[in-house]
Amino acid sequence: MAQVREGGCSCGAVRYRMTSDPMFVHCCHCLDCQKQGGGAFAINALVETDRIEILGEAPEAVSMPTESGRPHDVHRCPHCKVAVWSDYGRRPSLRFVRVSTLDDPHAIQPDAHIFTRSKVPWVVLPEGQRAFDVYYDMAREWPPESLARRRAILGDV
Ligand SMILES: [Zn+2]
Ligand SMILES: [Zn+2]
Repeated sequence: MAQVREGGCSCGAVRYRMTSDPMFVHCCHCLDCQKQGGGAFAINALVETDRIEILGEAPEAVSMPTESGRPHDVHRCPHCKVAVWSDYGRRPSLRFVRVSTLDDPHAIQPDAHIFTRSKVPWVVLPEGQRAFDVYYDMAREWPPESLARRRAILGDV
């Protein structure tokens, strides 16, 4: 059964509800995530935008410079500026929710570790975790039902 989860920013102005399980969860070890989050990695839950209900104020989009040149908009609380999710590639139907902003931030486990080429060296991944130097082949790694959900919002891209 789909799990409903709530989360929000630090000051409480932005509150949201995720109405289903995510399609897939990344633990991203790229240098951008480390710099922007001030930590060793970011945990992002990939979910359809229409499965996020905004309960409080809407976050505001802030465009970030990227190495690839691909757009990355971070959606932040207009007051405390905490990032609640990202839009990578200007795909309005898809959100990368920061798992650390959920009220129960440890309830979601990553499905895959990505960009481990820039992993903080003393961070040791648990045995058996799926980990990729950079990225991976979605068709191989995602469960079929998640691929179908992604296709439903983005088509065959
Ligand atoms: Zn806030
Ligand atoms: Zn990253």
